[in-house]
Amino acid sequence: MDLSFSEEQEMLWKSARDFLANKCPKTLVRQMEEDEKGYVPELWKEMADLGWIGLPFPEKYGGGGFTFLDLVILLEEMGRACLPGPFISTVVLGGLPIAKWGTEQQKKDILPKICKGEAILTLALTEPSARYDAVSVQVKAKVEGDHYVISGTKLFVNDANVADYIIVVARTADSANPEEGITLFIVDGKSPGITTHLLRTIAGDKQCEFTLNKVKVPKASVLGKPNQGWGMVGEIIQWAALAKAAEMMGGAQQVLEMTIQYAKDRVQFDRPIGSFQIIQHYLADMSIDVDSSRVSLHKAAWMLSEGISCAKEISVIKGWLSEAYRRVTAQAHQIHGAIGFTKDHDLELYFRRAKAAELFFGDADFHREIVAQQLGM
Ligand SMILES: Cc1cc2nc3c(=O)[nH]c(=O)nc-3n(C[C@H](O)[C@H](O)[C@H](O)COP(=O)(O)OP(=O)(O)OC[C@H]3O[C@@H](n4cnc5c(N)ncnc54)[C@H](O)[C@@H]3O)c2cc1C
Repeated sequence: MDLSFSEEQEMLWKSARDFLANKCPKTLVRQMEEDEKGYVPELWKEMADLGWIGLPFPEKYGGGGFTFLDLVILLEEMGRACLPGPFISTVVLGGLPIAKWGTEQQKKDILPKICKGEAILTLALTEPSARYDAVSVQVKAKVEGDHYVISGTKLFVNDANVADYIIVVARTADSANPEEGITLFIVDGKSPGITTHLLRTIAGDKQCEFTLNKVKVPKASVLGKPNQGWGMVGEIIQWAALAKAAEMMGGAQQVLEMTIQYAKDRVQFDRPIGSFQIIQHYLADMSIDVDSSRVSLHKAAWMLSEGISCAKEISVIKGWLSEAYRRVTAQAHQIHGAIGFTKDHDLELYFRRAKAAELFFGDADFHREIVAQQLGM
């Protein structure tokens, strides 16, 4: 079995690592945690010019026509650099659903803008329950003439503060089965009746309370089929969980590498601390977490790219990394001693990201349930 990258993937990986090492220093990451927008528009444009934002979209709309596995390779590097901004929101939560289920008009209107770095997107799914199940979708959309009118509040919406289009998941019909009667709408971020408030988060990422007060959207803004949106949501959650797992994987890899280096450099009792057996065992545990994750991540991404059903594989990797990334950063803290605990050291950035990412599109328990279902339980 050959698990190596193709020549093209190798180039993507290397150029992403070099570019982000230059353009995304930790000073910028820290500035963006404090910044209201949470990303740098000039850097976003440069990433678009490199073809990163259009990577998985068809060439016909200005994209690169790359696979999900290629996207995962890029996302690992983004996680390694702690790149802030709305990349997953725009590409995975917004762009990919339009590319898969959009009408030709919707695709022509929006995908080229995404690829050029001219439109930021996101998905407004969760509500105060913060759960990823259909019964929690209570935001209502009602037909009025040739429009729908949407009202209600969404919570923890990533990057809604800067989004030009928000895919809103709303209830359009009540039914005994909560998975029926849900519709997805592509809503213009500047529509009258929308308000957005930034929430404070542990990682400084931009999650929002997103309120729709009688927001009018044309019927042509429905994404996919009315009342049959829940199946689409299920797929989007899978893509997003896999994309986030890729970022987490890259972060965990970087934490492992920085900790190995620290254990070699830090001298206590006249010896590098890496010569102590307990430190070696910690590092071996971290390496087992990181290396086993990579194989599962690439297997799931490859299956998705090939169109092979992989709900179980995606839940295996997101569920595993939700705990493994946090475990790796916690062990790195043990090895770094007091220095890793300080705000001036990069390690604390990764620890906070590991904690936030754990909950993103399903924590370990959420994904364990899916794995159990896939096992026929
Ligand atoms: C939140 C916080 C508050 C603190 N407040 C204070 C304070 O008020 N006053 C104060 O004086 N200090 C304070 N400290 C510092 C604390 O005393 C030191 O962190 C501690 O003594 C460890 O030293 P170090 O950070 O240099 O780690 P190191 O000694 O460099 O240790 C790093 C790693 O190597 C391991 N290691 C080191 N030596 C050995 C060995 N011989 N065998 C096996 N493993 C080894 C350690 O277990 C650790 O995992 C604080 C630390 C923290 C995190």
